[in-house]
Amino acid sequence: MIKHSPVMRICISCRKTYDRNNLLKITKDHKQGIMFQKGMGRSAYICKSKECYSDSKIKKKLQKALKTFLEPEFIDIFEKEIASYNDYPNKGI
Ligand SMILES: [Zn+2]
Repeated sequence: MIKHSPVMRICISCRKTYDRNNLLKITKDHKQGIMFQKGMGRSAYICKSKECYSDSKIKKKLQKALKTFLEPEFIDIFEKEIASYNDYPNKGI
């Protein structure tokens, strides 16, 4: 029997390990800058826990993880992404 093991990643906020599919991926793309759920480059992951994505230090943590400066507008985009991301149906795989 072949068993597919899920790809595990660590949430940069709570440091817990989750299935990659249950995390929001933020990538500093080489060409296009900050991207959500796509892009090639240094990435950071945040879990669906409200305590993590609404953490007042989340921007700082992301800047550290991605080794980049995030524009003030980033937080607005980030919050929109989080909102739509939480609307995704739970596939339960
Ligand atoms: Zn977390």
